[in-house]
Amino acid sequence: MNALLRIDGVSKSFGGVLANRNITIGVEAGAVNGLIGPNGSGKTTLFNCIVGYHPVDSGAVTFDGTRVERMAVPRIARLGLLRTFQQTRVYGGMSCIENMQVSAPKAALGGGGLLRRVPAAVTERAESLLEFAGLYALRRHGAGSLSFGQQKLLEFAMALMRAPKMLLLDEPTAGINPTLINGMIDRLLRANAEMGVTLLVIEHNMRVIMNLATRIHCLAHGGLLASGTPEQVRNDPRVLDAYLRAAR
Ligand code: ADP
Ligand code: MG
Repeated sequence: MNALLRIDGVSKSFGGVLANRNITIGVEAGAVNGLIGPNGSGKTTLFNCIVGYHPVDSGAVTFDGTRVERMAVPRIARLGLLRTFQQTRVYGGMSCIENMQVSAPKAALGGGGLLRRVPAAVTERAESLLEFAGLYALRRHGAGSLSFGQQKLLEFAMALMRAPKMLLLDEPTAGINPTLINGMIDRLLRANAEMGVTLLVIEHNMRVIMNLATRIHCLAHGGLLASGTPEQVRNDPRVLDAYLRAAR
C-alpha cells in the first residue's frame, strides 16, 4: 500500500486512562478513510497524536515519508497535514473573507503578516474557496453570525487555504442540519477528487461515513477493533457489539 499516513503501534494515556492502545492504521494517498467508534473510544486523541498536539507515549507516525511523532503542530502543518476541530474554531469577530485571509500560509502573506496589505492572489484564492464552500454571498458577514453548520464549512475552507495534502476532520457533520450534512459530504468528496486532498474523517453517523469512505477503522476502548471496507465494518459483529454496548 502507498500509505500517505502510517500510524504504527501508537499508545497514549492520560493518568490511568489508556486513550490509545497500540493503534496501527495506514491511509493510502488519495483515499477517503473513516474513523468511527463509540464516545470516549479515543478518536480525537488519535487525531491529537497524529498532528502533534500530544506527545505519543510510544509508537511512530509517518507522514509522506517523514517521521512526525516528535514534531510540533506547525511543522507538521507545513508538511501538509492539518486537522479541523469537533468544536469549530473560526474567528467570530472577523468576516468570512478575513478568516480565510489569516488562514493563508505565512509565505503567501509575505513578510509583516497582517500589518501589510493582503496580496491579491490570497484574496482571490480565499474568494474562490468561499465559493466552493457555498459561502461566497456571506463573505463580508461576521463569522460569528453564521450558523454552526456554516461555521464548519468555513473552517473546512480555511484549512483548504493552506493547500494541505491531507486533512483530518473531527465530526464535520455533527450538530448541523440534514441539508448542510449533504452539502458537507459533497464538498469533502470534491476536495478529495478535484483538489487531491487525502481525508481521514471521524464520523458518528454511520450513513454519512458509508457514503464517504472507502475504508473504515473502528476504535473501541482505545484500541483498534476493526479495519476494512464499509461493508466489512458494518457487518462486523464486534463493531455492532461495541455500538450496541455504548448505546445501552
Ligand atoms: P472520542 O473522540 O472517541 O470520543 P477521546 O479521544 O476524546 O474520545 O477520549 C478518549 C479517552 O481519553 C476518554 O476517556 C477521555 O476522557 C480521555 N481524554 C481525552 N483527552 C484527555 C485529556 N486531555 N486529559 C485527560 N483525559 C483525556
Ligand atoms: Mg471526539
